[in-house]
Amino acid sequence: MVVTRFAPSPTGYLHIGGLRTALFSYLWAKNRGGKFLLRIEDTDKARNSEEATQAILKAFEWLGLEADGEITYQSQRDEIYAKYIKQLLDEGKAYKCYMSKEELTELRETQMAKKERTMYDGRYRDFDGTPPEGVAPVIRIKSPKTGEILVKDGVKGTISFQAEDILDDFIIARADGAPTYNFVVAIDDYLMGINEVIRGDDHLSNTPKQIVVYEALGFTIPAFYHVPMIHNSKGKKLSKRDGATDVMAYKEMGYTPQALLNFLVRLGWSHGDQEIFSFEEMCKLFNPKDINKSASIYNTEKLDWLNSHYIKNTSNDELAELLTPYDVDLTSDAKKDILLDALKERAKTLKELAELVKEILTTPTEYEAKAIKKAFKDNAFDVLNGYSEKLKTNEPKLSSDYHALMEEVVSEMEIGFGKIGMPLRVALLGKMGGPNIDVIMEVIGKEETLLRISQAITENS
Ligand code: GLU
Repeated sequence: MVVTRFAPSPTGYLHIGGLRTALFSYLWAKNRGGKFLLRIEDTDKARNSEEATQAILKAFEWLGLEADGEITYQSQRDEIYAKYIKQLLDEGKAYKCYMSKEELTELRETQMAKKERTMYDGRYRDFDGTPPEGVAPVIRIKSPKTGEILVKDGVKGTISFQAEDILDDFIIARADGAPTYNFVVAIDDYLMGINEVIRGDDHLSNTPKQIVVYEALGFTIPAFYHVPMIHNSKGKKLSKRDGATDVMAYKEMGYTPQALLNFLVRLGWSHGDQEIFSFEEMCKLFNPKDINKSASIYNTEKLDWLNSHYIKNTSNDELAELLTPYDVDLTSDAKKDILLDALKERAKTLKELAELVKEILTTPTEYEAKAIKKAFKDNAFDVLNGYSEKLKTNEPKLSSDYHALMEEVVSEMEIGFGKIGMPLRVALLGKMGGPNIDVIMEVIGKEETLLRISQAITENS
């Protein structure tokens, strides 16, 4: 069974790069009928926070990505790590290193003076003397001194790391006993049964170290997929300014979970030239062997395009639910369908859609100067008054009823349709633009229409 994981360090919010690898891991597990596990890498007490953990979980909830089973918290696993440290020490695969800070600095300076790479020289690797007094040792793992370490990567192919270049018996436990990052990642991945690791290629340099741990403990090495980074349009690593922000900021901006997931799945993965994937399709089609070898480019227009696609194709009932976080509650509104049918083609985001709804439902408090000049000229107010009279003596219900009354005024006053359309629009909305006015009138009803017309005339006469 395929078991994948997402292992965020809760140092801040979940950003979209992280979410993308989480999505890939999730999809691959689902594709294989496997499991997707979540592990919170919260061992760095100075940088991690409970708030950040909650923010990550909230983002997952918003997107409907649910992890299988219990969440693993590294902060609760000290005993497990201690057991493996002891095992490695007992087996002679790790050792205590008593090198002091001063000695380390001295070594570094000598190496620098000789223009050598600065690295630990292994002086305690085979030490069997009396340890110096007053030094709390760190624990180092014995890593191979020669040969190569091969990372078999499902995206990049096999990558060879020269043992002597990278592995200076790295520390697996600090002087205070705290285990180090690469050590605990390897142990947890093994104990959690993770057999396919999908993560950003910024972690590639950690992988040989983790392989050393796997080998020392006799663990089976998982399959690795290191996913190339997301770049901005200038080919640079995506920064906050480009959109590498908190996943929840996308909710605030009015993106639907579906659009965001669809957008992310295409950042670095493709299936022919298909752009639109339902969630079920993503699960069915995703395979990490199709992850692109080069960096992907973040493109906001594409995200907007997908978002408007999903808004247009979402049922009005569901849209009404999705709009509630933006202060628009149409969930039990009789006018929901006519309103959303008229507006959903016009909005790129839920936030914009909410604004459009509010614009229609709110009596204007001001009128745009440009619109006034264009619409409230010649006999515009006579036309509006004429329309009000028609409304008062009729009981229009549907947009077609409102439209028919406009036609009557046009023909009785022998004017073009624009002579009523434009002033009426500005009277209703305070500006040009927006959906059909007969639809607006059906939504707000006769009394509100009359009120808006008389207010427009009073305030602009
Ligand atoms: N905790 C690491 C991070 O947040 C990920 C570790 C991994 O995926 O192996 O970048």
